[in-house]
Amino acid sequence: MEVQITCENCGSSIEVYPDINANQVECDVCNHNQPVHFNTDHENSIVEVCPCCQRKDFYKQKDFNRAVGVTLFIIASILAIWTYGISLIVLYLVDLFLFKKLSSIIVCYKCGTIFRNAKNVGSVPDFNHEMHDRIKYSDHDFQGKPLEH
Ligand SMILES: [Zn+2]
Ligand SMILES: [Zn+2]
Repeated sequence: MEVQITCENCGSSIEVYPDINANQVECDVCNHNQPVHFNTDHENSIVEVCPCCQRKDFYKQKDFNRAVGVTLFIIASILAIWTYGISLIVLYLVDLFLFKKLSSIIVCYKCGTIFRNAKNVGSVPDFNHEMHDRIKYSDHDFQGKPLEH
C-alpha cells in the first residue's frame, strides 16, 4: 500500500510506504517533519485508522486526476467545432473506458491523506457531503461509523 500524505507546512505530497518503525515522515520540499503512527494493519495494506490524524472516517473514490479530465474536455470542446461534436462523443467513450479501468483509493476526510492499493477499499463507503462538511467545518468525529441514508 502507498500512502500519500499532505505536508502540513507547504502542502506538497509526501509518498511513503507504511513502516511500523517510522514515527515521522520528512517533506522533500521543505524538510518539515510530520508525525505518523503506522500500525501492523497499515503494513498489511488495511486502513482502519489514519496514520496522520488518528481518525477513522474515510471515503473511497476513483484514482482520477481531475486536471487531466478538464484539459481533455477543453480540447474536445474546441475540436467539436470542426468535428460537429464527434470529439465530444469520443471523449465520453474514452472517459467511460478509463473510468472502468481506474482503481479506487481511500481518502481521509479529516486530513486528506490518500491510500493506494489498500485491501479493504471495498468496505469503505463513497464520499458523503454531509460527513465531509461536519468533519471539516465543525470538527465532528464519526469514529468510523458512516452516516446512513
Ligand atoms: Zn513541505
Ligand atoms: Zn487523516
